[in-house]
Amino acid sequence: MLRAFRSVAAAAGLCVAVNSAVGAQQETGYVVRPTGGPCLVLRTAPSTDSARVDCLVPGTGVTAVDAVPFWRRVRLADGREGWSAKKFLEPVAPVVEEPALPDPNAIPPHAWLEVHIVDVGQGDGIWIRTFDDGVAGNGVFEGKNIVIDGGPNASQGEGTLHDYIESAGHHGGIIDALVVSHPHDDHYPGAARIIRHFDVLSYYDPGFPKGGVAYPAFLNEVKTETVEGTPIALHIGRSNFGVPAWGKEIGVRFLYAWPGSNEGLGSKMNTIENNASIVLRLTYGRHSFLFMGDAEGKERGDGPDEPKYVEKILMTEVQPDSLTSTVLKLAHHGSETSSTLPFMQAVNPEIIVASSGRKKFGQVFLPDASVLERYCQLNPAVRVYRTDRDDAAQQRTVKNDADGDHVVIRTNGKDIEVLAFVNGVLLSSHPAGC
Ligand SMILES: [Zn+2]
Ligand SMILES: [Zn+2]
Repeated sequence: MLRAFRSVAAAAGLCVAVNSAVGAQQETGYVVRPTGGPCLVLRTAPSTDSARVDCLVPGTGVTAVDAVPFWRRVRLADGREGWSAKKFLEPVAPVVEEPALPDPNAIPPHAWLEVHIVDVGQGDGIWIRTFDDGVAGNGVFEGKNIVIDGGPNASQGEGTLHDYIESAGHHGGIIDALVVSHPHDDHYPGAARIIRHFDVLSYYDPGFPKGGVAYPAFLNEVKTETVEGTPIALHIGRSNFGVPAWGKEIGVRFLYAWPGSNEGLGSKMNTIENNASIVLRLTYGRHSFLFMGDAEGKERGDGPDEPKYVEKILMTEVQPDSLTSTVLKLAHHGSETSSTLPFMQAVNPEIIVASSGRKKFGQVFLPDASVLERYCQLNPAVRVYRTDRDDAAQQRTVKNDADGDHVVIRTNGKDIEVLAFVNGVLLSSHPAGC
């Protein structure tokens, strides 16, 4: 029974993502989830201070008629209406067959999924390779290449994501999906170089209406990409993401992207743009990877106890077991504007990676030491990796350096291994503890 509930919930979760992105409030059926208490309180207004209408036992069916952030107005079978916290309502959706994730024991021990978090200096540049079993077209182990962000550098030269992928022997190859988390210049310029030098089949973008000249020019370049006459598949805006066909062996969920309005995402434009970030979770066998872009959880001066912004939305709208991940690519280069305690506890990572460089923001370099300390306090066994290793020792105080401090993580669904490089040299042992 529990298992059936979970599989429906998982399938419905995908539908929620699509529906909420469309923004249309349709009359949708929901079922009350287990709340941890005896019943779910229905109230006269979207506030915990308002009066009770009823208390619904888990499993009760209701119809949604309106919504505000975090609350949904529902109609009961007898016609009464009231407000309930969204997180305790499960959509009744047609049971969609989820891609069959193989039992970890069914993944061959040599079928490694690789995640390369490349040292692109201050920025993000991530290359993911799925295992290729040599049998093309059956939808599993197809050897897909996925890029999340391209780093800050669009020009020729060393230290770019493009050069890294080239040197790994992928010259002129196919990039199945290019994901640009948000329109900041430490994330997208290098993606232009990916578009120019590889055959990119599909593109994902949160659809934030970034003004100016540079980003629209980049997007125009993306839109002109064709591969053997077929235009690139554009997935701009969360409602257009769908479920990517990256192989049945991989679970792919876009947990968040810009919701179509800036409400609740901060007051400064830089904060809002970070909070437009695509948040993506991949699952392979027993392990999950959570890619946060620059999504934020608080203001720099706030304490770590109360999530705001994207972390608050994720905590509210995503089931906790859909956040828990073995590997966390720290949000916003390990900045103090992310990683609140409740969020860290929900993700509960075993491995964290800070993708950053020696670029000074105001008075600080990223990652913030206080953020790493919080993860270490939460789990003293957490393994910490970063793409700016040893850069401080070289006294590069302002240079945007990319000098080969790559972090490569691979898993066969059971085992997970980290290959850590400093200046391009693989370390035989790595001081990754707290
Ligand atoms: Zn950034
Ligand atoms: Zn950013």
